[in-house]
Amino acid sequence: MKKIGAFAEVIVALNTRSTDRVFHYAVPAALQDKVEVGIRVLVPFNNRSLAGYVTGFGFPENTVNIKEIAGVLDAEPVFTPELLELARWMAENYLCSTAEALQRILSPRLLVKGQRVVKQVHPAIQAKDLESALNSLSRAPKQAALLKKAMINPGLTRKELAVAEGVSASVVDTLVEKGLLVISPENSPRRLVRVAQTSVDSNGLVLNDGQKETLDQVARDIRQGMFKVFLLHGITGSGKTEVYMQAISITLGTGRQAVVLVPEISLTPQMVDMFRRRFGGQVAVLHSALSGGERYDEWRRIKEGEASVVLGTRSAIFAPLPRPGLFVIDEEHESSYKQDDHLRYHAREVAIKRAQIAGAVVLLGSATPSLESQLKASAGGPYQLLKLTDRIDGRPLPLARVVDMRLEMKGGNSGIFSRTLVAAVNKRLDKGEQVLLFLNRRGYATFIICRECGLVLKCPRCDISLIYHRDGRLRCHYCNYTVRAPDLCPSCGSQSIKHFGAGTQKVEEEARQFFPEARLLRMDSDSTARKGSHSKIINAFRDRQVDILIGTQMIAKGLDFPGVTLVGVINADTTLHMPDFRAAERTFQLLTQVAGRAGRGELPGEAIIQTYNPDHYSITAAAAHDCDRFYLSEMPVRRSLGYPPFSHLARLLFTHEDEEEVKKGAGQAKETLKNILAGSGKNISVLGPAPAPLSKIKDRYRWQLVIKASRRDLLRDVIRESLSSLEKGPSSIRPVVNVDINPQGM
Ligand code: ADP
Ligand code: ZN
Ligand code: ZN
Repeated sequence: MKKIGAFAEVIVALNTRSTDRVFHYAVPAALQDKVEVGIRVLVPFNNRSLAGYVTGFGFPENTVNIKEIAGVLDAEPVFTPELLELARWMAENYLCSTAEALQRILSPRLLVKGQRVVKQVHPAIQAKDLESALNSLSRAPKQAALLKKAMINPGLTRKELAVAEGVSASVVDTLVEKGLLVISPENSPRRLVRVAQTSVDSNGLVLNDGQKETLDQVARDIRQGMFKVFLLHGITGSGKTEVYMQAISITLGTGRQAVVLVPEISLTPQMVDMFRRRFGGQVAVLHSALSGGERYDEWRRIKEGEASVVLGTRSAIFAPLPRPGLFVIDEEHESSYKQDDHLRYHAREVAIKRAQIAGAVVLLGSATPSLESQLKASAGGPYQLLKLTDRIDGRPLPLARVVDMRLEMKGGNSGIFSRTLVAAVNKRLDKGEQVLLFLNRRGYATFIICRECGLVLKCPRCDISLIYHRDGRLRCHYCNYTVRAPDLCPSCGSQSIKHFGAGTQKVEEEARQFFPEARLLRMDSDSTARKGSHSKIINAFRDRQVDILIGTQMIAKGLDFPGVTLVGVINADTTLHMPDFRAAERTFQLLTQVAGRAGRGELPGEAIIQTYNPDHYSITAAAAHDCDRFYLSEMPVRRSLGYPPFSHLARLLFTHEDEEEVKKGAGQAKETLKNILAGSGKNISVLGPAPAPLSKIKDRYRWQLVIKASRRDLLRDVIRESLSSLEKGPSSIRPVVNVDINPQGM
């Protein structure tokens, strides 16, 4: 594909939307053999030396001011045409630059923020690539010397390395920017991932009829190497993982590779062991706790075809497999697949696009599929629906009892525990069985609820719970509808209409009073802040050193405790009234998952759900394990209010130190959007500006606009147009704008 005399087309790593185009550079004779599509180069750009990505060869309109490539950073391509196409799609769909998307795809290093850990510097290149890297730095002798130093002494801190070489630490940063060094957040020395060669059992289990039918369908398309998306809707314990593994074996048999994405919380050592037992050293594991160096090692193994089964969390979707044939996304409804800062991609969307480019199969699995996937898998939709309706062990799903907390209140009990739950816990403790008490994370936004009748005030326009503000007013953070918080419940006249919600500590305190004899342990982000304490708590509970485990949604997922026979949901209302159009969906998914925790062992289990809204369909459907009932209730609500999956939604978040500025900026953006839309006949609505649910973070005020459109391309185009028009406006004190297409928490 290299044309004689052609110029290299380079995307410069500048991270701005406005420079998102290809620049031409001449290839000096000495680099003729080295410059090829997919490698990174150093190029002069506005008197600076920047990294760039070679995306092709061609001829510019004008060759007068063409500069030369200064050096090459890679000895071999680091991205394929397939990944370049994916980057271009991401740039278009997530409104970033192609360079940003490529960086996201390639980055073998971590983007860990706000964690206090010792950071070590490691080389991002292998020894064999050192020479070409040094050549590229021939005009920067300090950098070259530092790079050599880092190769010989990996694992020093940024400062130590700089001191060792007698240069300023900014030289380290420069090499990190150029992609030659990585800074890893782990303070233990990097070790190569070596996989024990023993105990590989590559034979799968004998599938039951349901699993077999499912696998047959998927296998046909894997063998044909055609793009296809399956939604595997299988109840908890129906054996989805075994289907994934056998589908992977079939993929490997066709000479292609597979990626399995799991939510962060599910990637337990047990999960990794299971894959290693089946696929041995072919498994590469990618997750955010790897150091930059470890991640890089795995990345190499994948790229070189040594590892053909990639098991990982969200960003493993960018693993550099030579010929991916299958993408499995377990728990496809999980919101953790959405990157919620920086480049806000959704791994499920990226997987589907990547599969389409590569001609691969996507297998989405869930016990409670997202409404987006469910709609696409319904009759006439583009996905094929597969169902597993029975548990492997044939045991029924545990019963869930819903406790009406309004009655408790009327009966004079205003505590956290209902009498039903106390009695049930005592019964289990007497028998020596274990109890999980589950609490949704404390809401970042407070709503007010009437504890006599369960009423929660909602926005009459958006059907979103109103957020209580310190000024005593309730506000919709989509459209900014505002009312004064009532003193008396407008529905039943009671005075018990207040904001509420208890933290795990409060639950622990009350539990100690009710169950003084029981051994209690609390698991939340406070108690697991120290590394390793998460698994310590889990192990203590599994080993039965603990009777009652209290925790947030961390304990709802992925974990299997055979001793647990009772799961109590302290209050379903905190999830149900999140100011988010997905609140009902999240409630249904969480409760279904939580209820599925009980009775996974030999003993039958039960779940108890406490709520002030016992009749809400998300709660009754979850208690009955009835997905269809939930979809039948929720789909029409989404449709009538114009929410996803029947529309596409974007959030423009404005932040600034000055509240007036941020309001003004958001207001201007709305005017711009309205001007663009005026007379366009496009069905797009702009809500707000309104304060974001978290209205101030780190001294910066946050306001937002919510934009709804029937089609995603319309949404994208109007936002792009308004951003570029805003960028042209006066720039003195403009607030920072952040775009999130189809955000997960909102
Ligand atoms: P899911 O992922 O659908 O919740 P799992 O994959 O965890 O279900 O399966 C539940 C249990 O059933 C696991 O212990 C698994 O090893 C076992 N299992 C799965 N398929 C079979 C099978 N065909 N025969 C016997 N046991 C199986
Ligand atoms: Zn009331
Ligand atoms: Zn509203």
